[in-house]
Amino acid sequence: MRKQLVEQLALKGIADGQVLAAMEAVPRHWFIDSALLPLAYKDQAVPIGCGQSISQPYTVARQTEMLGVRPHDKVLEIGTGSGYQTAVLYTLKAHIYTIERQYDLFRQTERLLAAAGYKVRCFYGDGYKGLPAYAPFDRIIVTAAAPEIPKQLLQQLKVGGRMVIPVGEESQTMYVIDRVEENLFRESSHGDCRFVPFLAGRE
Ligand code: SAH
Repeated sequence: MRKQLVEQLALKGIADGQVLAAMEAVPRHWFIDSALLPLAYKDQAVPIGCGQSISQPYTVARQTEMLGVRPHDKVLEIGTGSGYQTAVLYTLKAHIYTIERQYDLFRQTERLLAAAGYKVRCFYGDGYKGLPAYAPFDRIIVTAAAPEIPKQLLQQLKVGGRMVIPVGEESQTMYVIDRVEENLFRESSHGDCRFVPFLAGRE
């Protein structure tokens, strides 16, 4: 089923072989409630409790492809959620720091990722602030929609680094932001998307 899903993703335009291989390797069903297992390998978002959802596989693939992760990159993920995107990034051999603002999800996913052998660092907190103590990062991926690009996150990017973030309230656009020089950021937009909102503070 996972192979078929990956074939669908390729047909929908995902061209990066490494991303497709990572998605073929990560068992998405581990990250989904057992009652919803039949949906694990369909190309759709699935509720994960706490009012959140695991992103649609196409979205995970597309965002990961745009991120352009290289082995050993230091990556900050905002919105751990189910941990599925986290596992895909780990499979691409990146060093992952991931933040979740909902305590229950943070606890549950931190445990799941560790039990499944994904060695990543999970943090409970407000992703708007990033992780200044661990900055700078080669890559930052935001998996909830922000009303605007958080300035504090831009400051945590290395020069030569890249952030991928959905921006907007009702309708959202995917942005790629490259830090070209210390004070020079280059922004490009990559079509419409739909994410749960990025919320300030923690619960
Ligand atoms: N990558 C996840 C997507 C989960 S949905 C997956 O594939 O499962 C987005 C997640 O972002 C939710 O879990 C939500 O609680 C979290 N979130 C929203 N605002 C946040 C913030 N300010 N800081 C950290 N996480 C946040």
